[in-house]
Amino acid sequence: MREIILCKYGEITLKGANRAFFEKLLRDKIQSRISKYGKFNVYYMQSTVYIEPEDEFCDVDAAYTAAKNTFGVAAVTRAIEAEKDMGMILKTASTDFLPYLDGIKTFKVEAKRSDKSFPLTSPEISAQVGGAILDATHGRLKVDIHSPDMCVRVEVRDRAAYICAGQERAVGGMPTGSNGRGLLLLSGGIDSPVAGYMMGKRGVQIEGLHFESFPYTSERAKQKVIELAEIVSDYTGPIHLHIVSLTKIQETLRDRCEEDYFTLLLRRSMMRIAKRVAEAYKCEAIITGESLGQVASQTMQALCVTDEISDRPVFRPLIGMDKEEIIEISRKIGTFETSILPYEDCCTVFTPRHPRTKPELWKVEREESKVDLTPLEDEAFAALTTVTAGR
Ligand code: ATP
Ligand code: MG
Repeated sequence: MREIILCKYGEITLKGANRAFFEKLLRDKIQSRISKYGKFNVYYMQSTVYIEPEDEFCDVDAAYTAAKNTFGVAAVTRAIEAEKDMGMILKTASTDFLPYLDGIKTFKVEAKRSDKSFPLTSPEISAQVGGAILDATHGRLKVDIHSPDMCVRVEVRDRAAYICAGQERAVGGMPTGSNGRGLLLLSGGIDSPVAGYMMGKRGVQIEGLHFESFPYTSERAKQKVIELAEIVSDYTGPIHLHIVSLTKIQETLRDRCEEDYFTLLLRRSMMRIAKRVAEAYKCEAIITGESLGQVASQTMQALCVTDEISDRPVFRPLIGMDKEEIIEISRKIGTFETSILPYEDCCTVFTPRHPRTKPELWKVEREESKVDLTPLEDEAFAALTTVTAGR
């Protein structure tokens, strides 16, 4: 007996002429993500990616979870392969397949026959397989057509037949790399990891940028951000996280500019550095975890003042979401517990008592002109270091 995994794609099926490109990309992504769990043959056929273990050393459970978390996969199913012969299908259904029915009380069978030369029709296959399972489980299970605990699917395809144990929803989205590369401004907070996940889900390859402010921010705070990048990389694939120090810029702003403008000036400086990192690492867009009105620097006017710096689109996938909704996603993807660890962030160093919530650009520019930040930004950019999260 051989257990395999079937991955159904989501939106890729809507692609026309480019479909082969997306299918191949998805196949490659799945292959590279599961390679650490053993030798698998991964191929696509008939709107499905097949994952077949090549030997008994493969960790199929780990591969299943990894496939379920791969963007572009809409649903995953464990299946047993059977020879394309009704006798063999029934034998498999009533022997090797039985462990998959542990813990359920009701089931139904749905058969699909893409090989139309197979001598039985789909309803005939369903009825016979249902009967075989009922016999083999000696009255423990009942058929329920309307709301079964498990829908057992039998697929008769070109190569073989597959008996599939239910179907579980996967992450969905588009394969990583199918929609360009974006530079995620990653803090240690709740929001930015979620923003990275959401853009990653739309196929964006994520590159990270974190600003630290040592010694005002600690080594532990930096490790926390690296850990967040690790968790996000479970979905997006490896993330190069660039780390830039803002210490001198922050000290200069604190000493030379009006306090109320401090955060805005800092955010503009962050954006100027982000622009340079984006250019150096070929990122077509910048991604932040901002949500409209959440804090003083996220009012419409404040966002306009920061946006004005960027020469490429700034994606803010959380802009219309409530904190509760963002937290729900962060719990789901597993970043929440790390995000709430109480370490400092550079944005909370020297925060003004009365930040401007409705800044006017000309006033911000007037404050900014009191200092020459360019050499400090050059220096910060030149001292950039990079770590790779995930593999
Ligand atoms: P988060 O929960 O993502 O930290 P937040 O609600 O705390 O967001 P801010 O601290 O104002 O809001 O940050 C807004 C956005 O700016 C963040 O979502 C992130 O994209 C970016 N950002 C903030 N601090 C940093 C940092 N230290 N390094 C990189 N990006 C940052
Ligand atoms: Mg923050």
